[in-house]
Amino acid sequence: MNSIVYMPTKCLCGKNAVINNSSAFSSLGKSCLIVTGKKSAVLCGALDDAVSALKKENIEYEIFNEIGENPLISACHRAGEAARKARADFILGIGGGSVLDASKAIAIYASNPELSPIDIYKREYSSDPLPVALIGTTAGTGSEVTAVSVLTNDETGRKKSISGPDCYAALSFCDPKYTESLPYGITVSTALDAFAHAVEGYFTEKCVGIIELYAEKCIPQIYGCLKELSQSGSVSPSLREPLYYGSLYAGLVINTCGTAFPHPLGYVLTENYGIPHGMACAAFFSDFIDRCLLFAPEKAKKFFELTDGIDEVKSVINSLVDLKGLSISDEEAKNYALRWQDAIPRNFTASPGGLTQEEAAGILAQLS
Ligand code: NAP
Ligand code: FE
Repeated sequence: MNSIVYMPTKCLCGKNAVINNSSAFSSLGKSCLIVTGKKSAVLCGALDDAVSALKKENIEYEIFNEIGENPLISACHRAGEAARKARADFILGIGGGSVLDASKAIAIYASNPELSPIDIYKREYSSDPLPVALIGTTAGTGSEVTAVSVLTNDETGRKKSISGPDCYAALSFCDPKYTESLPYGITVSTALDAFAHAVEGYFTEKCVGIIELYAEKCIPQIYGCLKELSQSGSVSPSLREPLYYGSLYAGLVINTCGTAFPHPLGYVLTENYGIPHGMACAAFFSDFIDRCLLFAPEKAKKFFELTDGIDEVKSVINSLVDLKGLSISDEEAKNYALRWQDAIPRNFTASPGGLTQEEAAGILAQLS
């Protein structure tokens, strides 16, 4: 059993983590750029808490609230300029995965004025990024604990990640209370993302040792919540904690293992049909689990012990996936799959049995 586990972010977890640990901000500097989306940071109370904590520590701040879903490199680049103008010592991202991922990119742009938006993908620059603090407000991506930032290239409309040690936050404040304002639909989609992380990571060869324990802890935890969401059609307050901490465990799983083929296939649905990220990945759950059963039967057996067995788990996940009548023709599917013709993504080879470009097109064309 060989594995490397590295996750250097200091996570401050629990109720009122931001207020109770305000002094942690001081370790990052005397001024910051707060990065948010349009509404949620205010709505969930996290911005208020952050501002109180910064004021208590005499830290200056300015706010950049123009990060949208599936964050654009152009918006992150603009925020990098705003950070320089504000003479920010660090970036504080408050939001869902989109804002958290954007904050990691903004920290790189901020200290490297020579970078054009697209240059971020070259992964070369002269100065270290500014330190980043994060406050998560969704229970999905686990970006709080991953060395990944998923960005959208405005020119191509395609999602493309950057990753590496420079994408770790210095601090993550993890308080499930901020997820209480999430409506049912976003709660479901983000929970499906967390479940996809746990399950896809679980079936990779890297999922051994303590990471396997994390996966085996969060798979039943998130699955139990999904089952309740499916049965009740609403979100009980008691689900917020298990969903949020489940998403962090699942983040730790993908941080070591990466994801499998549902993630890149899901990007096609998000980019071209506006399907939210978690829902888009979960649309391929049945195809994925069928291949796991075929090519990794022992692990699949364990997975079904952690959940409810193949029919029940598929039925729960599929009951929560709503693709709004979306269908993809053979021709369209082949065209989408052209993106994988030059290089098969790591997510395909990491999936049990692997996946070819032709098989990916076949799976896309069977969607309904
Ligand atoms: P999101 O795109 O960050 O947010 C979705 C929506 O939820 C936005 O409209 C946002 O509003 C709203 N929202 C956020 N928190 C809320 C709250 N507490 N109450 C009410 N509304 C709230 O969703 P996400 O699923 O967390 O992030 C998805 C992104 O993360 C995708 O780009 C995906 O590719 C990426 N991702 C990253 C990783 C990683 O390891 N880094 C892993 C998986 C996925 P506002 O716009 O007003 O904020
Ligand atoms: Fe994801």
